[in-house]
Amino acid sequence: MKKIAILGSTGSIGTQALDIIERNRSYFKIEALSAHNNIELLKEQIDKFKPRVVTVVDKEKAEILKSKISSKTQILVGPGGLKEIASIKNLDMVLVAVVGIAGLEATIAALSTGNDVALANKETLVAGGQLVMNTAKVHGSSIIPVDSEHSAILQCIQGARKKDIKGIVLTASGGPFRGYTREDLEKVTVEDALKHPNWVMGQKITIDSATLMNKGLELIEAKWLFDLDIEQIKVVIHPESIIHSMVEFIDNSVLAQLGLADMRIPILYALTYPERMPSPVESLDLLKLKKLSFEEADLETFSCLKLAINAIEIGGTMPVVLNAANEIAVKKFLDRKIGFNEIASLVKEAMKNHKPINEPVLEDILRVDQAIRKQYS
Ligand code: MG
Repeated sequence: MKKIAILGSTGSIGTQALDIIERNRSYFKIEALSAHNNIELLKEQIDKFKPRVVTVVDKEKAEILKSKISSKTQILVGPGGLKEIASIKNLDMVLVAVVGIAGLEATIAALSTGNDVALANKETLVAGGQLVMNTAKVHGSSIIPVDSEHSAILQCIQGARKKDIKGIVLTASGGPFRGYTREDLEKVTVEDALKHPNWVMGQKITIDSATLMNKGLELIEAKWLFDLDIEQIKVVIHPESIIHSMVEFIDNSVLAQLGLADMRIPILYALTYPERMPSPVESLDLLKLKKLSFEEADLETFSCLKLAINAIEIGGTMPVVLNAANEIAVKKFLDRKIGFNEIASLVKEAMKNHKPINEPVLEDILRVDQAIRKQYS
């Protein structure tokens, strides 16, 4: 039985992971769960999976939960609880599916304990890529990506030698505004931006998909995960979201991973890696699809992708600034305080004003992250 901890068990990835785990109860054992403040759902999960320990980040909500729980489950309180759960000894996998920079600290705690991490938190590798990869190396622990693109690449390189990889192609759906001009984008609303054509996801990542910042963050993650140069990573718009990414080898042979746009496939692969298990997702019907198409990404109109490439080329703490400023900008857009095109403007300004620190340690990353959030909120 695989002993699993899920950080962020009430979110989009967390609930889908539990859906898979519930269908395979003889294979997985839930040791620990965490929620930010959705204690109603967390209580249901405790009743169903009987974890040894849970943590609730919101202190008041944690107290309410304590009064409602009759089982033996231990309840930890506050952000420190995430690290405590991540550091439980001898877990087979810690699924890090929390949103925000808390994911970075939890990932480092898990890796330092020797626990493998199934990673579904963008901040971890975008803000702390070098630090996180070094931590994994030093402690002999692994990071298995949950994101569909990185999962696709991991699947395509099984059995391959690193030196045989020429590069990778990250596919992007193009989001709801594919083909729009900058002028068109001036007029789009929050509701328009939240209508993703293929994937059902949380609000933040849905907006990031509309601006193409999501692909920029994924490009940075891919660089660290697979130890690639930026020149080895291409982005191609693929509106059908059937090919989840590809790897090109030195003989110009290309391997692609295909499947329906359902996160339960990459989540399951991360939890069972390197093995596979039957999934509840439908089979891919190629005859129904008929064709797959590809377009060039428009970096002038969707400048967030270009900013992400700039940030990783500059390196140091610049991707920390990109990530934090983007999160603030997306929140402002969702709160209807700024327009869609101003998301990129805010990120660009924050990057312009930042003097990057090279090879940052955790404290540097957290300090820069906090400073940017304070300055631009
Ligand atoms: Mg993705």
